[in-house]
Amino acid sequence: MLYRSTRGQSKGQGFESVVLEGLAADGGLYIPETLPSLPSDWQTAWAKLSFSELATELISLFVGSDISRAELSDLVHRSYATFDTPEVTPLVGLDGKTHILELFHGPTYAFKDVALQFLGNLFEFFLERRNAQKAAGEPDHKITVVGATSGDTGSAAIYGLRGKKNVSVFILHPEGRVSPIQEAQMTTVLDANVHNVSIAGTFDDCQDIVKQLFGRADFKKQHSLGAINSINWARILAQITYYFHAYFALVRQGNAEPKPVFVVPSGNFGDILAGFYARSLGLPVGKLAIATNANDILDRFLRSGKYEKNSAQGVLATPSPAMDILVSSNFERFLWYLARDNEVVGTEAERADLAGATIAQWMDELRASGSFAVSPKALEAARAVFWSGRCSDADTYTTIAKYYAKTPSYLLDPHTAVGVYVAETLAEDIAQLGSPDVVCLSTAHPAKFSEAVLKAVHDDGKSLDFESILPPPFVGLLGKPRRCEHCENSADAVAQLIVAKAASQ
Ligand SMILES: *Cc1c(COP(=O)(O)O)cnc(C)c1O
Repeated sequence: MLYRSTRGQSKGQGFESVVLEGLAADGGLYIPETLPSLPSDWQTAWAKLSFSELATELISLFVGSDISRAELSDLVHRSYATFDTPEVTPLVGLDGKTHILELFHGPTYAFKDVALQFLGNLFEFFLERRNAQKAAGEPDHKITVVGATSGDTGSAAIYGLRGKKNVSVFILHPEGRVSPIQEAQMTTVLDANVHNVSIAGTFDDCQDIVKQLFGRADFKKQHSLGAINSINWARILAQITYYFHAYFALVRQGNAEPKPVFVVPSGNFGDILAGFYARSLGLPVGKLAIATNANDILDRFLRSGKYEKNSAQGVLATPSPAMDILVSSNFERFLWYLARDNEVVGTEAERADLAGATIAQWMDELRASGSFAVSPKALEAARAVFWSGRCSDADTYTTIAKYYAKTPSYLLDPHTAVGVYVAETLAEDIAQLGSPDVVCLSTAHPAKFSEAVLKAVHDDGKSLDFESILPPPFVGLLGKPRRCEHCENSADAVAQLIVAKAASQ
């Protein structure tokens, strides 16, 4: 299985280098050169598989010969043994034919664990194998992961990488600007290879420092800097599994031929992109619905065909902060398919190359003028796959309150509420599709976003015993021992810290 960059300059890369490299050298994102075929009998052969067995089948299609089947199976099983339910991503009923796909049963109680538990093991596996093959006297292959977080991604990355051999991780967060639970989740991890760094600045400052460090070619090479942000192909790949898992759960619940509508609370477009790949592989999907908060670039694109940064307003702070983005980094991958099939002419191979040039041009336009537009034909093609909707802050709160007040009651986290609200607004379109099952992806446990959840319930005049819904690892978390380095707001200071830690190991 070979991979190419969405911007056309890099082709013929194997799975291992794509995973370790993250972003392609031309600034593009890696995608498979061709999509694999599912076995013709997948609907029967895979029907009774566990989550990990299903993941092994699907991931092996994209790995090629880079990892043996037995090694992959072991890696996948270890990745999902850390979840608090054997189903890994259970599908629960919400209301009529609407279901919630709970993606928050991993160690940090957010959907990013599904990908990052796997990615951490994958890094460790590749590094160990390289070290076993290296010549005597050659230094060990290592990787230094450096990332910035406003809360959510950081803890999932730390839990994915803690204790992994040959990996060290530095996660920068803005001092005093991360929710108390999220700060505690990150800084109570005491493994020697985990370094929390609080920066006297904002999240943007943290991101800027990370960018500067990656821009220092010598430093990057010397410390083998690696990224784990959502552009890493392995993260998308790992997420394909739960779309299939949900499909089989519907079959088990008595629907012989489900063709669900998946509603996905979206920010960087990584979660729903996995649904696009599942559909492209042949999973029966009624529609993929993009649900955004007030940061609605994706919803506006589906309405107008214009992808336009909201530069004047900047990123808006909402009750669903993990979706507060200006642009969606993974959208570029979907755009590549849109360009190949609608914007260029030639043989399939020619169109693949031309699509890279189209993407590079669109991204230049976006950088220079803040927007670009696709052709009417491409927009129509996008609408054949996706619906979209937007949920305001007020509607986020009322949706949480509404489902909490129902019998049986269900407590939605604010991100999931955005999806459920958008599903409601799509009721007519869903009816026109023949009222299929609707699967709303739930991306976080409500306890992670306690402030918004409590506000929603209290403003509705209800009470909520929050302690009673806390997952066991959250109980007493705030009082546990912590380790965190404080650092001034400068790339030089963080670089010095990384050098000092590397020297002391
Ligand atoms: C990251 C995240 C999202 C958004 O997912 P994308 O892949 O960026 O679209 C939604 N909800 C939660 C809780 C998240 O952590």
